[in-house]
Amino acid sequence: MHPGAGRATLTGKECEVSVTATTGEHIIIVNGLGAVYLRINRKARRIILRLTEEGEIAVTVPRGVPYGEALDFVLSRRDWIAQQQARRDRGETGLPPLPYEPPTLDRAAAAAILEPRIRELASSHGLTIGRIQVKAQRTLWGSCATGGRISINWKAARLPDHLRDYVILHELAHLRHRNHGPHYWHALDKLVGGDAKVLDRELRRWPLKLL
Ligand SMILES: [Zn+2]
Repeated sequence: MHPGAGRATLTGKECEVSVTATTGEHIIIVNGLGAVYLRINRKARRIILRLTEEGEIAVTVPRGVPYGEALDFVLSRRDWIAQQQARRDRGETGLPPLPYEPPTLDRAAAAAILEPRIRELASSHGLTIGRIQVKAQRTLWGSCATGGRISINWKAARLPDHLRDYVILHELAHLRHRNHGPHYWHALDKLVGGDAKVLDRELRRWPLKLL
């Protein structure tokens, strides 16, 4: 039995059918896009859109957000979805699609997130920093100069929170070790409270170019 089966009533515009699958996902067929899989996640704080490895459109919906609103979000991201699907269809392996669509932010909004977070992480680890610069480097996530001056790419604010923090901690660890030798990685492991190399690999799934 599919309690939600039948004609869609969400927007009256573009969706054809809406059913609740036995998996607990809500599947909506959207004209021109295909199947959209909606799943409620109690812990999610915002709507997250991503393409699965199979190219399906998967949407994480925070509890309390109506499906109609989630669907409107998906429709507003049509261009991004088409771009990612085309890239996938062309088999472009050099730059895989981002795991999901990052939040839209401008540089000023990014700085308002990054600067306090850098100070917070530095002070919680007892590190003294100098001036903070939020920059728009083309290929660098950040840098750490003499005098403890920290530069962070504003696009770090578009990363998932734990990877944003990882980018910051990567630079903070340079306050202790300027190179990327074993001592550096050991210090970074301590700052991230785990295996920094795992985070480093995860960060590579978010190429700066695509953000
Ligand atoms: Zn480094």
